[in-house]
Amino acid sequence: MSVMKFLQLFLWFIFASVSTHAISGEVLSKLQGYPEQGGFVWGQTIPLAQVKLGDASAQADEKGLFYIGIPRLAQQTEQLEISVLGVPQYTQKLTIAQHEYPTQYIKGVKKKHVNPRSEADMAHIRSDIEKINAARAQPFEMLPYIEKTFSQPVSGTITGVYGSRRFYNGEERSWHKGTDFARKTGTPIAAPQDAVVKLALANSYFNGNLIMLDHGHGMMTLYAHLDRLDVKTGDSVKQGDVIGTVGSTGRSTGPHLHWGLYWGKMALNPMLLFKTPQNLM
Ligand SMILES: [Zn+2]
Repeated sequence: MSVMKFLQLFLWFIFASVSTHAISGEVLSKLQGYPEQGGFVWGQTIPLAQVKLGDASAQADEKGLFYIGIPRLAQQTEQLEISVLGVPQYTQKLTIAQHEYPTQYIKGVKKKHVNPRSEADMAHIRSDIEKINAARAQPFEMLPYIEKTFSQPVSGTITGVYGSRRFYNGEERSWHKGTDFARKTGTPIAAPQDAVVKLALANSYFNGNLIMLDHGHGMMTLYAHLDRLDVKTGDSVKQGDVIGTVGSTGRSTGPHLHWGLYWGKMALNPMLLFKTPQNLM
């Protein structure tokens, strides 16, 4: 812990222990976002405070800004709690809009993408998971990019939505963690906002050519099944920069972009990035 951080915590400890009630009205100066399953909220609170929403927790940054995700099956009412060094400072009940998720049946999937069995395939899958987890385990960039307006990475017909249950060749597999846009192979994909490339991975087993962009505060977007990767891990990109092209690599039955939004490991609905956030104060 840096000396600065220690001093800050020490000062807050004194402040919190003597004036819990006096400051409670000012603990939260901003709270907005998308209070729905697969949504997220953000706000402004005490620097370095702990924020909890349901089972999820986040730490506010040194300016007090925090982001927190809402899982696909969150309860109708979830409690937001803010505490400093374990001392509760503020609670607020949030009503979470509930969704009915459709079921999608996908046929004509290659057998090896439904039931991978060979030792080589299993090793490939394990290696992908390690690389993706390693990228996620790195400290998130504390970039301001997530607060800016996002643009769509491609236009096109939406052929898959966030949260749906999925059956491949009749067998249920994990639920759909993003939006699918059908476009022809070679269509350029534009970064929807400034970011750092957290991972550019060629030839992953299920996702094919894959990109993960870090927009700050634990918020990342994911691009799968690309035909071409035009960036590499560690690159900085600006909104509108071409990061690759649409393809049909990995577990895919036709050219499309699979676009995901993650808060840490939690998959959220990326289409919310285009919706006007609600003020929750
Ligand atoms: Zn998809």
